Amino acid sequence: KEELNIIQGALELRTKTVEDVLTPLTDCFMLASDVVLDFNTMSDMMQSGYTRIPVFENERSNIVDILFVKDLAFVDPDDCTPLKTITQFYKHPLHCVFNDTKLDAMLEEFKKGKSHLAIVQRVNNEGEGDPFYEVMGIVTLEDVIEEIIKSE
Ligand code: ATP
Ligand code: ATP
Repeated sequence: KEELNIIQGALELRTKTVEDVLTPLTDCFMLASDVVLDFNTMSDMMQSGYTRIPVFENERSNIVDILFVKDLAFVDPDDCTPLKTITQFYKHPLHCVFNDTKLDAMLEEFKKGKSHLAIVQRVNNEGEGDPFYEVMGIVTLEDVIEEIIKSE
């Protein structure tokens, strides 16, 4: 029954982690920080359908900003505005969480406000070198809600 699935989903928030529901970095629609907001870039963004777009510098794992589609309200593609001009104007805070964050804690954080998207990172201590933080992907409020209402 539908209700049982929802209760089940809600109970699982205590055991499942953001790692179980994230969108992997390779699947994220992102922009390089040095792009220019010309017609092509802006139409790619619109076609992606996403509201929040991570911005990376040099490599995709290095997320430095987040762009909201509504930030583009006053941007004219003919002006070829550098993306940096916009991100430096809005300076939306980046919200990072660790991969083992439980979904109930994540839901509380999302409810507290600020952003509805968080960047998921883990400590990578494989290999020879020093451990380092590694970005795994992104998680949004929608991913947590989906976990509650999904039916088996
Ligand atoms: P909203 O519904 O608030 O307009 P949205 O449709 O852009 O936002 P969400 O509803 O938050 O995105 O998330 C829907 C799914 O898309 C989730 O699985 C989320 O992880 C994923 N997602 C969100 N932003 C991106 C992005 N930039 N690239 C790839 N996947 C994304
Ligand atoms: P997003 O978070 O994706 O940028 P948003 O902040 O515009 O979207 P929602 O997060 O969907 O809007 O909704 C936040 C709250 O604001 C909800 O209670 C919603 O009912 C309300 N709301 C959304 N749009 C309007 C509007 N045009 N006028 C008044 N209230 C609105």
